[in-house]
Amino acid sequence: MSSAGQSQAAPPEARKDLSQVRQKEMIARHFDRLAAAPETGEKCAYTFVPGNLSELLASFGVLPVLPEINSLQSAMRGKSAEYISIAEKLGHSEDVCTYVKSDIGMLKSGNVGPTGQRLPSPDLLLLSYTGCFTFMKWFELLREEYHCPVAMLHVPYQADGRITDAMRKYVVDQLRSKVIPALEAITGRAYDEDRLRACLTLSAQAEDDLVWVLQSARNVPSPIDAYFGAVYYVGPIFSSFRGSQDAVDYYRELRAEIAVRLRLGQGPVTPEGEMGQERFRVVVEGPPNWTSFREFWKMFSDEGAVAVASTYAKVGGVYDLGFRHDPERPLESLAEYCLGCYTNLSLPSRIDLLTRYLREYQADGFLINSVKSCNSFSAGQLHILREVESRSGRPGGFIESDLVDPRYFSAANIKNRLESYFQMLDQKRAGAGR
Ligand code: SF4
Repeated sequence: MSSAGQSQAAPPEARKDLSQVRQKEMIARHFDRLAAAPETGEKCAYTFVPGNLSELLASFGVLPVLPEINSLQSAMRGKSAEYISIAEKLGHSEDVCTYVKSDIGMLKSGNVGPTGQRLPSPDLLLLSYTGCFTFMKWFELLREEYHCPVAMLHVPYQADGRITDAMRKYVVDQLRSKVIPALEAITGRAYDEDRLRACLTLSAQAEDDLVWVLQSARNVPSPIDAYFGAVYYVGPIFSSFRGSQDAVDYYRELRAEIAVRLRLGQGPVTPEGEMGQERFRVVVEGPPNWTSFREFWKMFSDEGAVAVASTYAKVGGVYDLGFRHDPERPLESLAEYCLGCYTNLSLPSRIDLLTRYLREYQADGFLINSVKSCNSFSAGQLHILREVESRSGRPGGFIESDLVDPRYFSAANIKNRLESYFQMLDQKRAGAGR
């Protein structure tokens, strides 16, 4: 997924805070370990961001590889168009999620990851099924390539907007009977619940700090951009580092940096430097476009528009509603995490969340970036638009692009739509005498 979310590297020339430098080092170390895995014998599992079981993998010493993150990284490095074209020549239709095609193209081009090092083949395909049918088809394709074991964790959809005891038990039973035995088989190690508890303790600490950072956007002006900027903030916790001391240190440092910005009344830092005056506060639904990430962000920052909350920053965990990984209930809390992923939420729950963000973050309006690739995100977004507008009384805007296929990012059209939207917000404000 989208999850997503999930960038692990800054666009070229972006200004870097200390936390970003730390994040870059963490990522470099992780990919070094992956590249060396065939020699060191470390095992790796390919898995997805939403519903990832990082702490369980770490408790077995298994390294995660996240194909969606590799795809978005390929886009940021300008390689996804070539990879998508390779996949399409192999017969993957234009309608297939472009994360999948970018990944298949990368695989067919030598499986060189974002740091320029070759990724190891998976010892396990760990499919945590959280609301995206494409995940299943994607791993069917990878299974044909790698002939390695597959463990599937089926996570029930939260159709009624709540997690029942039966749903939690169903997931925990699968963790015990399918996922843990698969990890024991590839590593030759026995499940160690104390090690898992230790990782979950670290996760909860990092999650507290991440939530503090995201909620700092309730201030006016907001010290962060909670859509574009948040892509960097959520990177470690949504991917390979949840449950590690590295993640705890990263989020502590990030929080301290944002606390300084808040004290000084500063707005977000953008790739172009400090953002000017905050003119508009918007909530954003949907993933960003990665091929023109920087250009897309600039279309907002040039207008003085700050994203104060986004659903994309929740794609790897909706922590701001109170969920924390819990060492006292290790498998149950992993189950609740998977069940609570954003793309596993019903449309009414997503509408509630957006409406709540508009109110709590004092937003002027909301924007939906509907990406062609992702049904998990995009299905129902027009209904969401109408419903959130009518409940909140605040105007919504709708733009269309894609995740990693540059053919679907029409800069002129998107800029035009955004400018009209911000003009409309301005006129409304003038009409209201603000
Ligand atoms: S369809 Fe959406 S959630 Fe599924 S793999 Fe593609 S981007 Fe991720």
